[in-house]
Amino acid sequence: MFKELKILDEKNKTLRQMSKEVSLPLSKEDKDIIEKIIKQLTYSQIEEYAEKYNLRPGMGLAFPQLGKLKRIIVIVYEYDEGKFENYVVVNPKIISHSEEMVALETGEGCLSVNREVEGHVPRFARVTVTGYDPEGNKISYRLREELAVAFQHEIDHLNGILFFDKINKKKPFFNENEIRLI
Ligand code: ZN
Repeated sequence: MFKELKILDEKNKTLRQMSKEVSLPLSKEDKDIIEKIIKQLTYSQIEEYAEKYNLRPGMGLAFPQLGKLKRIIVIVYEYDEGKFENYVVVNPKIISHSEEMVALETGEGCLSVNREVEGHVPRFARVTVTGYDPEGNKISYRLREELAVAFQHEIDHLNGILFFDKINKKKPFFNENEIRLI
């Protein structure tokens, strides 16, 4: 059985708060929530299920989007057609990043933002993220391009930041000479 998670909308002030570090290993309750998030994000990226359950496609979710101010992020990345890799990071930290910036050419979306927001969001092209898995084992990921963007987007949620905060209101679009568009 599949039951859709209730995701907070951008108007909800909880999304603007700082999330707290979580002690490890995670509780059974939090692990169950992570499983539900993975299922929903995966389904949302498979057309058949997305239609059946009326899901907006999304590749990432952070706990505050469910009203839980905990530093946990989940990303389900389709690395190949129909093949998904799951990333769950507790207490994530960006420990280093490239000088180079990129932006998604078509802009970013967010499951908490139910409207089109146009504009390029500058992000680091590459980041190294450390943190813990749900059992409390230390993990480290070196990420690039789209996946690096997804991690930065989700980690921002833990600090009360939404993607459109980073769009320059006066000049929302970059050209290719200013930033590499991906
Ligand atoms: Zn988001």
